[in-house]
Amino acid sequence: MKGVIMIIDGMADRPLEKLSGRTPLEAASTPNMDRIAESGINGIMDPIKPGVRAGSDTSHISILGYDPYRVYTGRGPFEAAGVGLDVKPGDIAFRCNFATADDDMIITDRRAGRIRSGTSSIARTINSMTIEGFEDVEIIFRESTGHRAVLVLRGPGLGDRVSDADPKVEGKPPKKIKALDGSPESRKTAEVLNRIVKESYEILRDHPVNTGRIERGEAPANIILPRGAGAVPHIEKFQDRYGLKAACIAETGLIKGIGHLTGMDVIDVEGATGGIDTDLESIKNAISSAIAADYDFLLINIDGADEAGHDGDLEGKVRFIERVDSILGDVMGDDIYFILTADHSTPVSVMDHTGDPVPIAITGPEVRVDDVKSFSERAAAAGGLCRIRGSDVMDILLDLMNKKEKFGA
Ligand code: ZN
Ligand code: ZN
Repeated sequence: MKGVIMIIDGMADRPLEKLSGRTPLEAASTPNMDRIAESGINGIMDPIKPGVRAGSDTSHISILGYDPYRVYTGRGPFEAAGVGLDVKPGDIAFRCNFATADDDMIITDRRAGRIRSGTSSIARTINSMTIEGFEDVEIIFRESTGHRAVLVLRGPGLGDRVSDADPKVEGKPPKKIKALDGSPESRKTAEVLNRIVKESYEILRDHPVNTGRIERGEAPANIILPRGAGAVPHIEKFQDRYGLKAACIAETGLIKGIGHLTGMDVIDVEGATGGIDTDLESIKNAISSAIAADYDFLLINIDGADEAGHDGDLEGKVRFIERVDSILGDVMGDDIYFILTADHSTPVSVMDHTGDPVPIAITGPEVRVDDVKSFSERAAAAGGLCRIRGSDVMDILLDLMNKKEKFGA
């Protein structure tokens, strides 16, 4: 018996006047999702708890049965693991932007002209940096997609309570990074980071990639701006915790990072770029192969509905949900408990995550099928699962799979 959790990122929404009071999920034509609801048990889920506006990261952590209030230290560690860096507990990790600074260190472009190529060569240069006086701190740097990158500091006596360097607007210098808790560990991190920001400009200013960019009239990537500090947490491996061999199919570095940090096999899918233009056919094929392989558990995240929600793109969200529905026809198998849900609501009216609960449906050989006939926020609320929390999902799944220890005699 296998368990599959498929999370359609940010799919849940609120009723909209433009849709005559329906949600995008209610308005979308979703015959396959409806079939899952009809043949399964349904409910609504608060990813963390009622009214908490979950991030994608904290929600996934909660749904996988870990306590986000204990495990989640910031976005940095998950992003760093997501680009394949072998981060270790205690490392301090950051998200970074490649940006453009002028001779006075004023940021003139926070995304370095949306740089697309040459970043790996720039990253290698930063990777070889050492900071005088802090030779005990190893600097690990890796490019991500576009203008994004990750930075990891490894060494003794480092803390993660530090502010961001990113000024968030152009026309200002990088912000001076400060220790937020006044501890010697965070002070050391802040000092190292301030030096990295300043010295990144010195070593990148005349980097061959940048001289080429300047010649072509493009903004050079001559400084890095770290933010989102977090200490890499100790996380019990998924397989040790549940005895299930697990794989993860995700599009964004953030969710891949959760897969890596929980010890899952992270399956890269060519063309799965996130967003509404992603290659869903390739994702479907990857899901089918992973289900056919010898995994006991599969976590799937599909990103596009969240992006459409953030963009306030109602039509795009409805259409994307319909496209996701179209790949759901052939991925189900017999010996599978299949859970379809979202990690949070991203209402197009709000253009950000909200704390509204999300629908959840579970199909499988021995679920108590209820009377719900369609998959949506409101239809699901009438189902047999009633209202659960994200932290209940793994317990329910393991129980259905008969993998739970009895509590008591
Ligand atoms: Zn999300
Ligand atoms: Zn989002």
